[in-house]
Amino acid sequence: MAKQRKTARGIELEASGSAQTPEADIYRRIHAAIAERRLLPGARLVEDQLGEVFGVSRMRIRSVLHSLARDKVVTLHRNRGAAVAYPTVREAKEVFAARRLIEVALAPEIVRAVDEAALKRLKEHIKKERQGERSEDRTFELKASHEFHTLLAEIVGNRVVVGFLRELMARSSLVTAIYERPDVSSCSHLAHANLIKFIERRDPEGLADAMLKHLNQIEGDLVLFEREEPVTDLRRVFADS
Ligand SMILES: [Zn+2]
Repeated sequence: MAKQRKTARGIELEASGSAQTPEADIYRRIHAAIAERRLLPGARLVEDQLGEVFGVSRMRIRSVLHSLARDKVVTLHRNRGAAVAYPTVREAKEVFAARRLIEVALAPEIVRAVDEAALKRLKEHIKKERQGERSEDRTFELKASHEFHTLLAEIVGNRVVVGFLRELMARSSLVTAIYERPDVSSCSHLAHANLIKFIERRDPEGLADAMLKHLNQIEGDLVLFEREEPVTDLRRVFADS
């Protein structure tokens, strides 16, 4: 088990320096399964089953589920146990409003802090996104496109802001999983190449404006209406992760 580890860079758990605990590893794997949409919003997270899957006690699983709930990607119900968070239409709108507040305000900071190495990292990332878009793997594509936004925040280097944005991007990923239109992908490498253009020109207003348009476009392309919750087989989700 857990030989191959897929991580969702940008939304993975930050190791706190010391050796990784079993809880941190399980957190990371469940978080990645949610961000990569192997576990869909609304899926029940049964403690016994997860304990079996990861070979640990229910107590450990419970502690992981509490951490995930704290980060808003899992919801704890008093009687029904835990489930992958299922953002409502209102929450979806709030997530995008919060993203606008943070990501647009970050634009001048990005332009101020960017250097050649960071620009190179962004351009390299665009290649990964293009690869994702060409593949049939929507999960990979979505992960790459979300990572771009965290990469931008990382340029500024404010760890509090990066932490906020990671949480927002994990929730944004849930929102996209539920509400995206299958034929549209507005958080694309083309849109991101356009953002890079303004960074290269060291144009803070241009970048802020382009970011605002980009986020409005993504939100505008979602189909926001209430949906039913799916049922998920946890053993299958983690069978080969
Ligand atoms: Zn984007």
